Amino acid sequence: MTFRENANLKNSQVRRGGSGGRRAGGGTVAAGSGLLGVVVTVIYILMGGNISDLSGGGGTTGASTNYNSEYVSAADSAGEDDFAECRTGADANANVDCRMVGTVISVQDYWERAFSDYEPAETVIFTGATSTGCGDATSAVGPFYCPIDSTIYLDTAFFEQLEQLGSDGGSLSQMYVVAHEYGHHIQNLTGVLSRYGGGSQGDGSNAVRVELQADCFAGAWVGNAATTQDIDGNTLLEPITQRQVESALSAAEAVGDDSIQSQSGSRINPDLWTHGSAAQREHWFTVGYESGNPNTCDTFSVSADQLDG
Ligand SMILES: [Zn+2]
Repeated sequence: MTFRENANLKNSQVRRGGSGGRRAGGGTVAAGSGLLGVVVTVIYILMGGNISDLSGGGGTTGASTNYNSEYVSAADSAGEDDFAECRTGADANANVDCRMVGTVISVQDYWERAFSDYEPAETVIFTGATSTGCGDATSAVGPFYCPIDSTIYLDTAFFEQLEQLGSDGGSLSQMYVVAHEYGHHIQNLTGVLSRYGGGSQGDGSNAVRVELQADCFAGAWVGNAATTQDIDGNTLLEPITQRQVESALSAAEAVGDDSIQSQSGSRINPDLWTHGSAAQREHWFTVGYESGNPNTCDTFSVSADQLDG
């Protein structure tokens, strides 16, 4: 999507991450994991599959990833000046970091009005590796949401990988990624993650349903994005075009489990799906986009067949 040139990018809650997280005091007691000093937790990533097959990196994979949480969140609360260069919508149109800043403003403005119990969540942009409330993470994980510190983590280098996977690289293909992760934040606030998160894999599994709902929430934001406002109460984005919607769909298709399996040279095996097929992800994004209503995103009450649309 295109930002209105003069939109104000202040107050975005995006900060830069680093690997300098404060070390947790010794004896962090295990949360039922049975391992002293280790908190086993689940993070919510954008896509499954074996990312390292594609990047050549040593990626961690799967719907959920267990982290040894030796560090607590690197909440340096620097924040405000981290993206001082991102002042206006024109900056967001020209620069990927500023586009993330603007997207976070828009997504949160939408949810503030759509969901009365909304609580803001920060996004951390990092390069290479960062400390998080869910443990240390590298870029190989891909973009993710950590429910423990309610924070989204993103290395924008991922967008190159997204294009390799078949996304068209348009602005909304990138913004969709941010909106998907905020979808997981909504699920954290509604209790969906504690009820259905971290479960089994496979076509029709709760893991897949969680991911498809996050795609639907991303679509609901896209359907309403043109009405979102900056801190001055002015419109943040230009009206969406059909071309831009197709850009988001190209990203949803690229991160489908079947797309990733075939890209990485694996056999297509629905039993290993964690995020849903390309068709399912496009379908649920479209449900949210066309209705503009997150209440249509109930991926848990439909049969497995109906997940295909
Ligand atoms: Zn996800």
